[in-house]
Amino acid sequence: MASAPREHRVVVVGAGVGGLVSALQLARQGLAVTLLEAAATPGGKMRQPVVDGAAIDSGPTVFTMRWIFQQIYASAGARLEDELELTALPVLARHAWGADERLDLFADPAQSREAIARFAGAAEANRFGQFCRQARAVYDTLEGPFIRSQAPTLMRMQGDLGLRGLAVLASLGPMRSLWGALGKHFHDPRLRQLFARYATYCGSSPWQAPATLMLVTQVELDGVWSVRGGMHALAKSLASLAERAGVTLRYGVRVASIDVSGGRANGVRLDNGERIAADSVVFNGDRSALGQGLLGDVVSRAVAPVAPSQRSLSALTWSLHAATEGFPLERHNVFFQPDYRREFDDIFGHGRLPATPTVYVCAQDRGCPGTPAPARDRLLMLVNAPAEARRVLTEAEIEACESHSFSLLAGYGLTVRRTPQNSLRTTPSDFHRMFPGSAGALYGMATHGWMSAFQRPGAASRIAGLYLAGGSVHPGPGVPMAAMSGQLAAATLMAHLDSTSRSRRAAICGGTSTRSAMTAGTD
Ligand SMILES: Cc1cc2nc3c(=O)[nH]c(=O)nc-3n(C[C@H](O)[C@H](O)[C@H](O)COP(=O)(O)OP(=O)(O)OC[C@H]3O[C@@H](n4cnc5c(N)ncnc54)[C@H](O)[C@@H]3O)c2cc1C
Repeated sequence: MASAPREHRVVVVGAGVGGLVSALQLARQGLAVTLLEAAATPGGKMRQPVVDGAAIDSGPTVFTMRWIFQQIYASAGARLEDELELTALPVLARHAWGADERLDLFADPAQSREAIARFAGAAEANRFGQFCRQARAVYDTLEGPFIRSQAPTLMRMQGDLGLRGLAVLASLGPMRSLWGALGKHFHDPRLRQLFARYATYCGSSPWQAPATLMLVTQVELDGVWSVRGGMHALAKSLASLAERAGVTLRYGVRVASIDVSGGRANGVRLDNGERIAADSVVFNGDRSALGQGLLGDVVSRAVAPVAPSQRSLSALTWSLHAATEGFPLERHNVFFQPDYRREFDDIFGHGRLPATPTVYVCAQDRGCPGTPAPARDRLLMLVNAPAEARRVLTEAEIEACESHSFSLLAGYGLTVRRTPQNSLRTTPSDFHRMFPGSAGALYGMATHGWMSAFQRPGAASRIAGLYLAGGSVHPGPGVPMAAMSGQLAAATLMAHLDSTSRSRRAAICGGTSTRSAMTAGTD
């Protein structure tokens, strides 16, 4: 039987954004929370290695959905804007298809329309307007019934959508892929490619992702912010808020197993043998780690396993502190290659690195109005890669992809003065080592097919007292979504606690005690 809230001890495993948010919110509600993180710093994928003397944001770079964090900070009695310096970026991203073919998207939709009209003609700019209206409608339709829902099912969602919501989804076309839906809007293949790329924000192929994923576009069109100190500063700020709320944070400690007694999670054991007792455990690592038995055999049944073919994209990245020349870098830059389909066939069809990769470059010191270009840029360069679900990539394959990527940039005019000292490469194997159980997949399961969004587990696992938070569970990957999963984990745990104490009170008052609500996490 669980203890009353004040004495309820929670261990949160992992200080990714999902773990940090759940720890913060549980501590704010009076629970005794200990957060255990294997790395030396908070943030998980929001990491910031030092390369040639400069700290480089080497995970997420695009900060969106600011309102989610405003709510989280407000719930902790703080103001986001007091804790972090955020600057709205006037240019959302710069896209290039060659040395002279460039298109910027702007925070101001009218400016984007004008840019598209100049780039692809007035008719295409009108179609962009229609696309934005549809993407907005899809976002508005799914925000409540899906994104904010605890664990949506198709049945429940149909009821929540109502006739109006169902009509919005039906307007996308039955079972249409994102790529198919974009073809209805855009006649210029470059624009279709540009908006298809948003599927990769969920680690997916535009050819297999459902058309509903156009809501990701809407999220970005709603605004992108730069965080002073990088995205890692957000992690440090959340960790500091959590500490102020009473969370005990321990870094450099790896949890080797989650203990279960009488069918209920009751603590963890570290790899140095130390045992920490708890009444509930929140797991913020990749959910696959549980299924693979990396946290012990007993908890391997906590969630359904992820098949190798369901893994999302991984990435090959370079964190650089280097001089650049020849291309006017914005904060976010995308260098497209013409055969987009081949990129995803290579990755998802053949499990290999793309022969002709699209290259994303984040120049983290650019894009804020009034800031001069630095002498040396802090860059994160990224190409999509297969997760190592089927095989490990060879050094020769990686070097070939590296050479294609830097040649593509040079062909579009961007020279990066790279040396072995100013460049740090991270491969899918490296990501797998940092995020155990993931096979290097950075976004959990790919969102492929219409049902995939319902296959992510919710916050309650199949084991009582064990909760899940992070990008590999509902509502999915991305910093704001993983933060929301942390909120959902905290809310689910509190709801279970609340119903337990109510059934206790009923039992004390002579009522018939029903099944402890704490075991409600077993469905
Ligand atoms: C290169 C890259 C680019 C990205 N770009 C963007 C972007 O621009 N915008 C965006 O919104 N999202 C982006 N993402 C995705 C986003 O970073 C993730 O979805 C999100 O940060 C995941 O957070 P999480 O809560 O799942 O925790 P994670 O970041 O996965 O962290 C989990 C933590 O748990 C710890 N842990 C795991 N197991 C144990 C254990 N046994 N014991 C102790 N600790 C453990 C790990 O060390 C890790 O710190 C990107 C990701 C990457 C890698």
